[in-house]
Amino acid sequence: MTSEKQFKITKITTEVKHIELKTPFKTALRETSHVEFVRVHVEDENGHVGIGEAPATKAITGEDIEIILESIESVEKQFLNLTCKEALEILHSACCIGSSAKAALDMAFISLHVKEINQTLCEYFEIKDFTPIKTDVTISLNSADVMLEDAKKAYENAMTILKVKVGSDVLHAVDIIRKIAKELVHVQILVDANQAWSFEDSQFFINNMFDIKIELIEQPVIASDLESLKKITHFSHIPILADEAVFSLEDAKKVVESQSADMINIKLMKCGGVTKAIEILEYAREKKITCMLGSMLEGPYSINIALYLAFAYRDVVGYVDLDSPLLYKEPSNELDFKFSGCEISLKISASKEASFSA
Ligand SMILES: [Mg+2]
Repeated sequence: MTSEKQFKITKITTEVKHIELKTPFKTALRETSHVEFVRVHVEDENGHVGIGEAPATKAITGEDIEIILESIESVEKQFLNLTCKEALEILHSACCIGSSAKAALDMAFISLHVKEINQTLCEYFEIKDFTPIKTDVTISLNSADVMLEDAKKAYENAMTILKVKVGSDVLHAVDIIRKIAKELVHVQILVDANQAWSFEDSQFFINNMFDIKIELIEQPVIASDLESLKKITHFSHIPILADEAVFSLEDAKKVVESQSADMINIKLMKCGGVTKAIEILEYAREKKITCMLGSMLEGPYSINIALYLAFAYRDVVGYVDLDSPLLYKEPSNELDFKFSGCEISLKISASKEASFSA
């Protein structure tokens, strides 16, 4: 057996970063004009650096920037002088911090480990199929006219999968979806209600979609109301996807076993990072449950690592919702992936990086 060289972690630092958006992002839960995130740098004794990120998503995970910074600061000393593998074990067994802060540390430890063993992330995730994948693009909640214009603009820019954010006004939701479907007959429509509806609203919406092709409806009712989610799933001819109802593997099992939704949305920030996302993806693969690999509004490094996962698990990841870079005002040069319309492909440099480096 070959023994891996064990490097010890020597330094963990954080910084707060901002990326301005082209236009404000609006859902039933929040409105924002920029992505704000914490970037964690984890360094080892050999000078290798792993990077992780977590955006502020108070409305979803309860963590704002201060909470993420404090959480990381409160645990970082525990990881000094450990190897990445040891740090990962402690992070997931003994650290009581929020899922976003955990995700940032998790991806920093993993990306550091990958550098230490002189692999690329492609090699580490055993990606074999490099055929481009497609992401949806979000149409923010707005007046029906503005949303229709945004949808048309997206389609003109070769975005053929639209995730349309709708709010508590279900008449507005019916109106906008019917308008988009009528005007843009070749787009795939995903509807995300972000928990804004009641069971009755959901029923009303679904009944009004009898002649319209919709890919899925995401989290129509409040996350805690699995009973209603299940009733909607059984009633609906449109697949139902659980998002806010599924943070952890335990949540995923609960939703799948009780048949409360047809699909689940996995996000690194909800589950606590790559290690945990892989557990859910493996479970979904075993149960043949289609997943969406989603994100919050995030920075380039956390989107990178989610994209590696989307490529590695393309057999279970039926939907990719990693469109944050498309919303940035300026393109990011920190991405390992190229976005062309809704198509995402790996930059050659990302797959060759390790083999060309000294
Ligand atoms: Mg959602």
